[in-house]
Amino acid sequence: MSLENKVAIVTGAARGIGFAVAKRFVMDGAKVVIADVDDEAGEAAVEDLSGLGTVMYIHCNVAERLDVRNMVAETLNAYGDIDVLVNNAGIVVGAEFLDLEEDDFDKVLSINLKGAFLCSQAVARHMVEKVDNGGDPGCIINMSSINSVVAIPNQIPYCVSKGGMTQLTKTTALSLAKYGIRVNAIGPGSIMTEMLASVNSDPAAKNRIMSRTPMLRIGEPSEIAGVAAFLASEDAGYVTGQTIFADGGRMPLNYTVAVPEDD
Ligand code: NAP
Repeated sequence: MSLENKVAIVTGAARGIGFAVAKRFVMDGAKVVIADVDDEAGEAAVEDLSGLGTVMYIHCNVAERLDVRNMVAETLNAYGDIDVLVNNAGIVVGAEFLDLEEDDFDKVLSINLKGAFLCSQAVARHMVEKVDNGGDPGCIINMSSINSVVAIPNQIPYCVSKGGMTQLTKTTALSLAKYGIRVNAIGPGSIMTEMLASVNSDPAAKNRIMSRTPMLRIGEPSEIAGVAAFLASEDAGYVTGQTIFADGGRMPLNYTVAVPEDD
């Protein structure tokens, strides 16, 4: 198993893509920490996965420095190490540009972007100390989005946060390269989670998404987890500072594709 004896933290893993990543990592042999703000869903996720391997839940609001510090301390206390961090926690707040509230702008940026920075810095400090003591370097994976490059006019802070994720990924990768610590991002297209559910239940909105998806289907969380498993593995040993887009072909597409009638 590619992650045998590794310790991984996945933020926002009580459900959705984060849960799928946590599940894949447990199946690949890692000891996994599910870090989230939804304690009930987090504990339920642990119950779901505990039959497959070693997994625990830690409450952590990634936007809060003390929560992050506590998450790192609790992980080290329980498992003695951290090899992989997946900065997956993220939220959306939709509003038209002229109506967007300052508080909502701050909230999205503090979770999606500052949260990834706080977790990366806290975990990287441990990883660097480990390398200095002759240990193996770890790696960091940021959950970005196609919206790091393209944009949606009523998702301003979300798109800004994911654009920032590209540069956070590059700057962190360059800063930590000399230690052998790799930092990469995943840019999912439209993936079947609760974040997408409301859009997907509206036929016109679904049609819009499909017309921009050459593979003509919504992606599964497990398909993002597969990319995370690759980036966390030694197969990606020379890959750093990159964003891998898993989007059914949306990023290369100019114009739209024809959507079959029954879609
Ligand atoms: P999701 O289903 O909404 O799950 C996100 C999880 O993160 C929830 O359990 C949520 O808890 C938790 N969370 C929210 N704020 C947090 C915080 N401050 N600290 C820790 N955990 C927090 O989302 P998803 O669709 O799986 O998306 C996961 C990541 O993939 C996000 O970064 C998102 O931007 C990215 N992504 C998703 C898609 C997609 O189509 N789904 C596409 C591109 C990128 P609550 O339920 O309590 O809020």
